[in-house]
Amino acid sequence: MKKYWKYGLIGLIIFIFLLVVLFYPRLKLKKNDVEIKVNDKYEEPGYKAYNIFKSYHKKVKIKSNLNTKKIGEYKIKYSYKYLFFKKQKTRIVKVVDKEKPTIKIEFDEEKICPSKYKEYKYSAEDNYDGDLTDKVEVTLKDNKLIYKVKDSSNNERVVTKKVELKTDSELELKLKGSEKITLYLGTKYEEPGYKAKDECDGDLTDKVKVEGKVDKDKEGTYKIKYTVFNSNEKKETKTRTVVVMKKPKVVRATASNGGGKVIFLTFDDGPGYYTKSILDTLDKYGVKATFFVTNQFPSYQYLITEESKRGHVVAVHTYSHNYNVYSSVEAYITDFNKMNDIIRNRTGSTSNLFRFPGGSSNTVSAKYSKGVVTKIAAEMQAKGYVYFDWHISSGDAAGYSADRIYNAVINGASRCGGGCVVLMHDIKGTTAKALDPILAELKRNNYTFGTLSEAGPTAHHKINN
Ligand SMILES: [Zn+2]
Repeated sequence: MKKYWKYGLIGLIIFIFLLVVLFYPRLKLKKNDVEIKVNDKYEEPGYKAYNIFKSYHKKVKIKSNLNTKKIGEYKIKYSYKYLFFKKQKTRIVKVVDKEKPTIKIEFDEEKICPSKYKEYKYSAEDNYDGDLTDKVEVTLKDNKLIYKVKDSSNNERVVTKKVELKTDSELELKLKGSEKITLYLGTKYEEPGYKAKDECDGDLTDKVKVEGKVDKDKEGTYKIKYTVFNSNEKKETKTRTVVVMKKPKVVRATASNGGGKVIFLTFDDGPGYYTKSILDTLDKYGVKATFFVTNQFPSYQYLITEESKRGHVVAVHTYSHNYNVYSSVEAYITDFNKMNDIIRNRTGSTSNLFRFPGGSSNTVSAKYSKGVVTKIAAEMQAKGYVYFDWHISSGDAAGYSADRIYNAVINGASRCGGGCVVLMHDIKGTTAKALDPILAELKRNNYTFGTLSEAGPTAHHKINN
C-alpha cells in the first residue's frame, strides 16, 4: 500500500509537470535589440506567443515609448497572461543619427581678405539638429579655407575651399576739417577728427596714431601727423598744419595814416552764369578778388577751379545757401564742410575763410535757433576759421541797377578811405555790368586791390543773434 502511494505521488508530479510543459505560455521576439535611423519608420520585427496547443499572438500587449524622431534608447515591452502565467519581454530600440551635416559655401569671391576670412558666407544644415551654421569652425590655412562642423551625434563634416588671398587692400585715411588750421594765440586746438578705413579691415579710425602737439601760447607752425596701418602692414599718413598766430589787428588803412588805399573786393553766392564775365573783367584790370562760393548752381562748379587758377581767393559761403543751416551749430558745420570738400576737390585745398549767409549780423537766423550765430562764430573761430563781413555793400542783392551799384561802391570807397571790404554777388548781371566802370574808376583814383586772408582785414559786424 505504501508503495502505491509513492508511485501515485510520482505520477502526480509527472502529470503536473506535463501539464505545465504543455500549457506553459511562451513569448519569443524575432531579433532582439534594433537600431534605426532617426526619422526612419520603425518596422516591428515580430514576436511569437504560444503554448504547445495554440498561438496567443492576439493576446500580446505592447507598451512602447518609442519616438523615431528623437535620438535615444527606447523600450518596447511585450506581455501576455495565460491562466496564472505571465510572460514579458523587452526589446531595446536605439534611434540613432549617423548622417553627417552638410556645409554649403555661399560666396563667389575668388580673392578674399585674410583678416575677415570668417565673414564670407556659408551655412551648415543637419538632418537632425537643423541649422548648424553657428557651430561651424572656420580656419584659414595657407590658401585653404577649412570648414568643420559636428552634429550632436558627433558626425563630422569637413569642407575645404581653395582661395586667393587679397594682400593689397585699399587703405584710406581722411582728415575731417581743414588740413590747414589757423588759431589765434590762446585758442585751444581741438582735433577736428579723422577717419580711416580699409577695404579688408573695415573701419580703422581707432587705430590711427596721432602725433604732434600744438602750443596755443606760442606762435608757430605745428604739424600733426596721422598714421594708420592695415592688417597687411600697409601704411597711410596725413599731416595737418596748425598755425598759431597773433590775432591780426584791424588792417584798415586810410589815406591819412599813409596805409594806402586798398580795396578788398568780394563776390558771394556763385559761381553762376555771370562769374565767367566777372573773372574776365578782373583779369582785364589785373585785379584779384575773394569769392565766397556756394553750390547753388552745380553746373558752374568748374569755375571754382578757374577762380583759383586766376589767382583769386576761394572761400566758403555755404553749400546750400539755405537759412536752415542756422537750425543748429551742427547743421551749419555739416553744410560748411560739404562746401569745403568741393573746394578741396576743385582747388586742391580747403579754405579757412568764410562768410555767413546774410552776414554775421543777420537776424533771420533767430527764426531757426536763438543765439546760433554767436555759437557758430565761437565754434568756427575755435577751429581756426576766420569769418568776414563787409564795410561797403554794393546793393546788388537788393536789386540795384548797374549805375546804382557803381555809385554805392565808388562812394563807399571814398568814404572808407581804404582797407575796406566790398560786398558784391557774382550771380548778378547788374554786377557784371557795373564791374568794368567800377574798376576803371578805382584804378584812376589809385586804389590797389587785396585778397582776404587770415591776416585780415577784420570786417566783423555786430552779431545780433
Ligand atoms: Zn550770400
